[in-house]
Amino acid sequence: MHSRLPIAVPPAHHETAGSYVQRLATLHGLPLPELWEQVSHPRRPGSTSRLVALDRLAAVTGHPASRLARAVIDLRRPEPDWLAYRHTPQPGCPRCTARHRGGIRLQLLAHHHYVCTRHQLWIGPPDPLFHRPPHLADLPEIVVAQRAHLRLLHRHGPAATYDAVLTGFLICAHRWDAGPTGDTDVWHSWTRRTDLLIPPGTEGDTFSASRLFAATYPEAVKIAAPIASLHWRRLAGGNPAGQRRFAAEIAPTVSATPTTTPRSARTRSRTGSTRTAGARRPRPPTPTADPATTAPAPPRPTPAPTTATTGPPAGSPGNAPAARRCCSTAPSPPS
Ligand SMILES: [Zn+2]
Repeated sequence: MHSRLPIAVPPAHHETAGSYVQRLATLHGLPLPELWEQVSHPRRPGSTSRLVALDRLAAVTGHPASRLARAVIDLRRPEPDWLAYRHTPQPGCPRCTARHRGGIRLQLLAHHHYVCTRHQLWIGPPDPLFHRPPHLADLPEIVVAQRAHLRLLHRHGPAATYDAVLTGFLICAHRWDAGPTGDTDVWHSWTRRTDLLIPPGTEGDTFSASRLFAATYPEAVKIAAPIASLHWRRLAGGNPAGQRRFAAEIAPTVSATPTTTPRSARTRSRTGSTRTAGARRPRPPTPTADPATTAPAPPRPTPAPTTATTGPPAGSPGNAPAARRCCSTAPSPPS
């Protein structure tokens, strides 16, 4: 028998089954294994591994199976294009999912989800620690970049857009690491954004590799536009003359940016401490350093949500107390 739970909280969009069941258990004060047993069945006869069953979940929650299948990503049928999604679930925009009570909502977001444009919050790529998403009120160019990113997606599709944006991040990281070439270098824009996203003196609480990606996101998307274009890709991969044309095409984006704050003007941080460029030079994101945790992952044929449907997600990041403990530990610097 599957008794109906009294609190009819729905799943968030793109939420994993494990996260949803965890929240239901938390809300109702139920042991997770007990609830998991009710909403799942053995993967195979005699198997100890269990999969969430859509009909059982519908019976326990009272939500129609069709609605659950649209929201819970690993119950969706037909299956989504897993290659278009990240390698690991993460908390999405907390304001979009605020009504979904019971703890952290872990969602599997698509590679192109970097900003909630409605609430202007940075939501990607995932960090191993669950930081509160930074607000982008002072960084509207990052919100604009998300819209440009979606236009790229519409034009070139998920695979080419993913490759192009990742390459854009790599080029920006290389330029950032090289240091500024003048007062109007884009390097200063990246450090200015970093100062807003990771305010000086708060690094212990606010540092995350994902925020470093945010600092370069506008330029990464701008560079991605020619990279995603077959014409420019052929030139970049061709003879030296073609490579020079490609370099000239992206040079205005990754070199001088006259509209940004000159280095000489950036001497006082938001916290009031006087700093110089050399006093705390932020390290650029390194997409190749730890792709499992800090970078948009390369497409994988096997979707991550299998972990959410093969057993009770005990100790999973969906457990709110566990997540709070994670957030209280010192973050690791980027590799
Ligand atoms: Zn939102």
